[in-house]
Amino acid sequence: MYDVREYLYKILVIGDVGTGKTSIIKRYVHNIFSMNYKSTIGVDFALKVIQWSPDTVVRLQLWDIAGQERGNMTRVYYKEAVAALVVYDVTRPKTFEAVKRWKADLDAKVSLPCDGGPIHTILLANKTDLHTQASAGLDAEEMEAFATSAKDNKNIEDATRFLLEKIMTAE
Ligand code: GDP
Ligand code: MG
Repeated sequence: MYDVREYLYKILVIGDVGTGKTSIIKRYVHNIFSMNYKSTIGVDFALKVIQWSPDTVVRLQLWDIAGQERGNMTRVYYKEAVAALVVYDVTRPKTFEAVKRWKADLDAKVSLPCDGGPIHTILLANKTDLHTQASAGLDAEEMEAFATSAKDNKNIEDATRFLLEKIMTAE
């Protein structure tokens, strides 16, 4: 007999409306995709349980935040998050410009309890199935970036694993 270690992490999924946040979560947690999700109102939650190693279980609580707001409410949503996925839509440059505002909002309102530094963040350039030249300017925001497609199930598993590795290393 040995003890099973369990970790629970709150992960934020942020970015402008329609970039594919809900689709990425549904793909990651349930492996499904639909062209017509309703806009998220307020916040939705999803839980993904991962057998990280034989003796380590990780529960990821994914917070799917409606992209309309970056105002007062986000402080409440961000509370105690340890990581974030920032999503933009490669077919809409405006959603990429918004990435720096989302990152600034994040850094202003939440930090890691251990050292007060910024929480782990990765950038997802989503909908690459619609657009082939997705990588231009990707590292502009000083975040690790992944070109994803919720539709084609591209890179979502890899991106979240990368993020989780960062979190687990910091434990
Ligand atoms: P959210 O507002 O950020 O949660 O965005 P949604 O997940 O609701 O997605 C907005 C729209 O984009 C929906 O019609 C999705 O089906 C579509 N969508 C999301 N991800 C992808 C993708 O990777 N490729 C394509 N082609 N469409 C996507
Ligand atoms: Mg949504």
